[in-house]
Amino acid sequence: PLTQEAVRAWLQRCAAVLEENRDYLTQLDAAIGDADHGVNMDRGFKAAMTKLASLDTQDIGTVFKTVGMALVSTVGGAGGPLYGTFFLQLGVKTTNKQELTPQDWAEALEAAVNGVIARGQARPGDKTMVDALLPALEAYKAALQEGVPFSEALARSAAAAEEGMKATIPMVAKKGRASYLGERSAGHQDPGATSSYLILRAAAESWA
Ligand code: ADP
Ligand code: MG
Ligand code: MG
Repeated sequence: PLTQEAVRAWLQRCAAVLEENRDYLTQLDAAIGDADHGVNMDRGFKAAMTKLASLDTQDIGTVFKTVGMALVSTVGGAGGPLYGTFFLQLGVKTTNKQELTPQDWAEALEAAVNGVIARGQARPGDKTMVDALLPALEAYKAALQEGVPFSEALARSAAAAEEGMKATIPMVAKKGRASYLGERSAGHQDPGATSSYLILRAAAESWA
């Protein structure tokens, strides 16, 4: 099972990867949005890490809720409420847990992805982060059903997120700023789907 240390290691890795990819994510957003997604995510995860550094708790749920609150208040734009919801829902599902089993992660990830969908009302194919998150959730659940080891299930989940991210390239955006471009949004990879892939890949790498 995942300990709180493992959970914190993932969040640290997210912060590092989002910092490394800040300019890349911002360039993707420059093509079909307002060129701030990388800056937003980097700022949000830095704020979350600062909060976590002074957080003393046994409860993994409190760790995730703290990240969610920090993201809501610092990321801004569409990504702030959506990623805030993602981590808050991870926290709701892991309340009072000191470690997480592979099944706990399935339930938490499901609540997180459903929270993003409920909040943003995006459907698969709308060219959003949902196009990376939903296939990743489905691949993870299918892998657990098959009885593959946790690390392999996480790797399949990250691979599905990557495929979903790439599949956003030809899509016409139906939600968010990119939707203002209509057909001209096609031919560009969605920034939010890209950050979602990076976050899920970080989990697979941290927990391998
Ligand atoms: P903003 O567009 O407000 O500047 P960001 O640039 O931080 O916010 O985030 C943009 C990303 O948010 C998009 O690439 C897309 O993946 C995601 N997004 C936008 N609207 C929605 C929505 N309604 N549901 C899910 N994801 C969305
Ligand atoms: Mg933007
Ligand atoms: Mg913006």
